[in-house]
Amino acid sequence: AKVIAVLNQKGGSGKTTIATHLARAIQLDGNSVILIDSDPQGSARDWSAAHELQPVSVVGIDRPTIERDLKSLAATDFVVIDGAPQAADLAVSAIKAANFILIPVQPSPYDIWATADLVDLVKQRIEVTDGKLKAAFVISRAIAHTKLGNEVGEALEGYGLPVLKSRIYQRVIYPGTAATGKTVFDTDPTGDAAQEFDVLKNEIKEFII
Ligand code: ADP
Ligand code: MG
Repeated sequence: AKVIAVLNQKGGSGKTTIATHLARAIQLDGNSVILIDSDPQGSARDWSAAHELQPVSVVGIDRPTIERDLKSLAATDFVVIDGAPQAADLAVSAIKAANFILIPVQPSPYDIWATADLVDLVKQRIEVTDGKLKAAFVISRAIAHTKLGNEVGEALEGYGLPVLKSRIYQRVIYPGTAATGKTVFDTDPTGDAAQEFDVLKNEIKEFII
């Protein structure tokens, strides 16, 4: 399986929103997918449980055994890991399991600086894997019709990891859809939100094919 880990120690950066939507987008492309909920709070499991006919399989692995446990999922096309806040041991385990690491970050220097420890871990792993592991930032919860400040660009550039062209904007449809265990692909498949996630999914696929 190709493993995409959505990681950021900071709560509220949009990990669960992005992980659930990516998993669904990949599934709608015709791939088999499993969403791993590595957060002991179980938000992705709660999301899944809110929808009786949930099409995405969600499995909780909130122990630092993710790398080992994923071996049993080799036949699945894609695995998406919803990262935990804090818990460095869980992050390390997810990093080891991953082929691609997506770091969602809100467009504020404080949020970007708070990813420094994670970026260090990810870069170490990129070295160990001779560059086979790929990683990128995605701007999450961007405010529409506003340019990113220069400070944001500068803070990100310092890390030497790519920043995806696609962005996920702050939209009321995301929390609304989450409450029903669905994604915007199910509630508004032709809307702007579904479109931005389709673009994000395609950009990520270019990194891991
Ligand atoms: P994390 O998993 O990193 O803690 P969540 O995805 O749970 O982040 O997001 C935290 C809160 O912000 C949730 O209530 C979620 O619905 C909301 N949220 C996340 N991304 C967006 C977005 N792009 N637009 C609007 N609300 C969002
Ligand atoms: Mg979460």
